[in-house]
Amino acid sequence: MPEIAGSDWRKRAAEIKFEIAPFIDGAFAPSAASGVIEDINPATEKALTTFSVGDEDDARRAVGGARAAFDDGRWRLKSPVEKRATLLAFADLVAADAETLALLDTLEMGKPILNALVDAHSAARTIRFYAEACDKLADSLLNSDPQSLVFQRREPRGVVAAITPWNFPVGMAALKLAPALAAGNSVVLKPSELASASACRLASLAHAAGIPPGVLQVVPGLGAGVGQMLATHGDVDFVSFTGSTATGRVLQQACGARALKPLMLECGGKSPQIVLPDAPDLDAVAEAIAHRIFRNQGQVCSAGSRLIAHRSVVDRLVECIATHAGRYAPGDPLDPHVRLGPLVSAQQRRRVMDYVAAGKANGAQLVCGGGTPDRPGYYVDATVFTGVDPQSSIAREEIFGPVLCVFAFDTLDQAIALANATEYGLTTTLWTTDFAAAHRVCREVRAGRVSVNMTTAPREGAGYAMGSEPMRQSGFGAEGGLAGLTPYTTLKGVQFNV
Ligand code: ADP
Repeated sequence: MPEIAGSDWRKRAAEIKFEIAPFIDGAFAPSAASGVIEDINPATEKALTTFSVGDEDDARRAVGGARAAFDDGRWRLKSPVEKRATLLAFADLVAADAETLALLDTLEMGKPILNALVDAHSAARTIRFYAEACDKLADSLLNSDPQSLVFQRREPRGVVAAITPWNFPVGMAALKLAPALAAGNSVVLKPSELASASACRLASLAHAAGIPPGVLQVVPGLGAGVGQMLATHGDVDFVSFTGSTATGRVLQQACGARALKPLMLECGGKSPQIVLPDAPDLDAVAEAIAHRIFRNQGQVCSAGSRLIAHRSVVDRLVECIATHAGRYAPGDPLDPHVRLGPLVSAQQRRRVMDYVAAGKANGAQLVCGGGTPDRPGYYVDATVFTGVDPQSSIAREEIFGPVLCVFAFDTLDQAIALANATEYGLTTTLWTTDFAAAHRVCREVRAGRVSVNMTTAPREGAGYAMGSEPMRQSGFGAEGGLAGLTPYTTLKGVQFNV
């Protein structure tokens, strides 16, 4: 990827157009709602644009169009080969448009531009992965008595409502709409009100690629309005949500309020990074740990916000992490050398700083950070606390900011107990060369995804093929890989007597 200088990104940012409006039945359809949202750039605290909030009527129109599209089969009944070709064309358009999509995300939510670019390309690859699945999955023919023909088939659910957060705007949208579309559903996507532009753009790219009108609708708007409407609407067959655990609970109730509506929830986390005494190359481990907590300003559900390190290595490790934290100096997210942008909003910064104050009041010691730099923008310094009381709020609750809490342990049992000492269960990272210990941790930790010895050096792993399912208050429903297709389908069993 050719490097683009900061000044060029800034020039392009100044010229970029924001098109934030409902995308319904193949075209932008301005909302008649009277409310307006001011779209704030968190790096400058200035408005980028204003847009109409979108309301329940927009949501109803979008669902109506999606229902009609599903029922008449304009996408659902296309052959797998045709679906694959259309989704591949969509992926190509997303890849070709990655710089614009990345700029929109950076401007709206403050992510450093190179990270945003990685997200946009990753969105294209996600779409490609699910496109390729369309004509390669087979249903099952069961052994039966000779007079019957019995098979099981996965069918699309119908109209899927996808409700996405602001922390990976383009990436999260792709992770939901790609498997939903590949499975043959129609989708109504509601992006976060804090970062809606790239989702609207995705819809127009999908249309240009040949996804028929009505099959991918986007309704920007508030959670309490558009989001609630989608969750309770009788023509929405399935809800796929990523966001906070608090909103996940509200949605679970909303989905059960009037119907038995299935849903999947990918919610908060308080993920542990466990370092055993034999961990290899502490400096590389520290670099990876810093990356897992400071990336995206710590606004990641799977952020490794708790370091659980063996007492024999913890001091040295914390020293190395503090050095790496110094490389996350807050700065303009349009500068490609900057690794730490602003938090998404003033409210989010307040929330994170309240946690920092609570940590200090509770006796935790600051190793670095703990403040906000003297510049406009909702910045918080990369922060590391040691001596954290395992019962305190910073130890147990999701902060969603660049704040790492450090705990020391003496035995593997203690490490596992500490790792499981929150209500969440999203991811766990482990560093060790002891295969037996690694095996035990992988089995015992309550987390949907475990990574062992993952440095920041690029490795492909399984590409986009690994799926996982959160546990406990982090939600439920598989996301990623072929397993990530299953929630968007329902199983039909058919018996023919001949
Ligand atoms: P965060 O706190 O990280 O912003 P939220 O859970 O509030 O995360 O938001 C994630 C997504 O859920 C956003 O698109 C938001 O608009 C939507 N949302 C928020 N509240 C509701 C609600 N009551 N019903 C449906 N969607 C909601």
